[in-house]
Amino acid sequence: MESTPLRITRNTYCIGGPNITDPDDCFIYLVNLDSHLILIDAGIGRSTDRLLANISQLGLNPRNIALLVLTHEHVDHIGGAAPLQSRLKFKIAAHEKAKRVISKGDSNASAAKNYGISLSPTPIDITLDGDAGSVPIGDGSLHYLHTPGHTPGSVVLYFNDGDRRVLFGQDLHGPFNKAWGSNIRQWRTSMKLVLALEADILCEGHYGVYRGKSAVRQFIFGLLNQTA
Ligand SMILES: [Zn+2]
Ligand SMILES: [Zn+2]
Repeated sequence: MESTPLRITRNTYCIGGPNITDPDDCFIYLVNLDSHLILIDAGIGRSTDRLLANISQLGLNPRNIALLVLTHEHVDHIGGAAPLQSRLKFKIAAHEKAKRVISKGDSNASAAKNYGISLSPTPIDITLDGDAGSVPIGDGSLHYLHTPGHTPGSVVLYFNDGDRRVLFGQDLHGPFNKAWGSNIRQWRTSMKLVLALEADILCEGHYGVYRGKSAVRQFIFGLLNQTA
């Protein structure tokens, strides 16, 4: 994976990640939906200035970020939410099943304890309910799917950029831990739903970007086989 911020498709960018911002950051993605910028995950929280600079470097204005969607309740994805929000004033969305852990700053379920850090409580402005729906920003074309397994509050996001379906599947790979509420049986069901999306591009949380329907399928099938 690259070591600088990059444009993935016409309206999709990667602005942070282990080689780009901080070794403990997940990959952090940005979608330009109808001129509304939507951030997908925020990293562990040590890279606020770098992330803002990276967005500008791509020719985008960080002040146009309307929403941050947190894909699940782990600190390497959500730790950066509060520091970024204090600079940019966007709203924060997460699934209803992730809300308690994030808004309370639960250090066990957020894995903050595993990283030896604490998580500050982060209020959720917009709750994503139920099994599926649309993120209520822009033209409503960014969809979510509740995909419990790695954690109870995991979601994937997807939208069609021209004729290509882009899938944001942060931590599809797991891992699984009782302290986080992981459930492998639920995860297998979730992965089948994700496969049915037939995405052309997968933006993953720690493995980077997979291009092409068959590469995306292969990656997910590989995970399913590993945990058989
Ligand atoms: Zn995770
Ligand atoms: Zn992660």
